[in-house]
Amino acid sequence: MAEGTTRRRLLTGGAAAVTALVGLGATSRLFGRSKGTTTMQTQTSTTTVTPRSVERVLSASSEHWVGDGFRVRSVISPNGDPRVQSPFLLLDHAARRHFEPATARRGVGEHPHRGFETVTFAYRGEIEHRDSTGGGGLIGAGDVQWMTAAGGLVHEEMHSREFTAKGGDMEMVQLWVNLPAKSKMSAPGYQSLLAADFPRLTLGAARARLIAGALGTERGPARTHSPITIFDLEFGETGEADFELPTGWNSLVFNLEGDVRVGDGGRPLRPGDLARLDPTRGGPVRLSGAKDARVLVLSGEPIAEPVVSYGPFVMNTQEEIVQAIRDYQSGKMGRLG
Ligand code: MN
Repeated sequence: MAEGTTRRRLLTGGAAAVTALVGLGATSRLFGRSKGTTTMQTQTSTTTVTPRSVERVLSASSEHWVGDGFRVRSVISPNGDPRVQSPFLLLDHAARRHFEPATARRGVGEHPHRGFETVTFAYRGEIEHRDSTGGGGLIGAGDVQWMTAAGGLVHEEMHSREFTAKGGDMEMVQLWVNLPAKSKMSAPGYQSLLAADFPRLTLGAARARLIAGALGTERGPARTHSPITIFDLEFGETGEADFELPTGWNSLVFNLEGDVRVGDGGRPLRPGDLARLDPTRGGPVRLSGAKDARVLVLSGEPIAEPVVSYGPFVMNTQEEIVQAIRDYQSGKMGRLG
């Protein structure tokens, strides 16, 4: 199929300019490349497609401990403007940190969630989750745990026993993804996504792991409740990575590590910074990275519903928050055994 073919070509990266064939109607718009300058082939008009621009850059908060196990910086929080971040609610990054061997397990003790999903990306170290529905498991380096709290549960997030005993480096990300109102009170669930589950794609100088949604012709393994694409990538050599994300979605690029530039004009993105791309325009997203730089890309269709959050609960109305607190306090979200 023509569309698939041209998408694939876009994903290979490399050339400096992107050309567009326009005038063929929205469904058959084709992208191609030429060396250096842009060439146009259209009946009536020519349009240059430049890389998507950065709308804003958000810097992470100062570091703080979550429990005694995770020293994180928060880049977005549930109090942020949903128009610019929905369906994403929170992004916490625990940058690489060494833990000495210990006997007492570190982590975050028993606490509830309702109304959204927590997605935990383990990059280094090993985390163990356990919840009041009997769910949980080990998340090792490269794994992702997608926990749908939905109607409510109580859980703990701890360093694994083995990691605690041996010590080592820990690096993780926790992302909160909002649920549409119709899914907020559904039954909780888990998706344990292992490093081996993710399709690998070459994006120019980078290698990407597709976790959720579509990228070119590939699809990630995570099931989502609203349209979302999530992938991370690592530069194997200094160079560029180009890819497409849907117009109108909130698309966020987070620098996990290294020297990264993003968008039209190559705006520098420091480690811990998050760029929001201009959602109003299509066209390729361009990243430039130094060898070994790592990036997490989040893109989702905004959920156009009110967001009311209170600590670990994210609902649509104040009344639903009050109900969540009552339900937790009366034990309706369960307890850890
Ligand atoms: Mn939690």
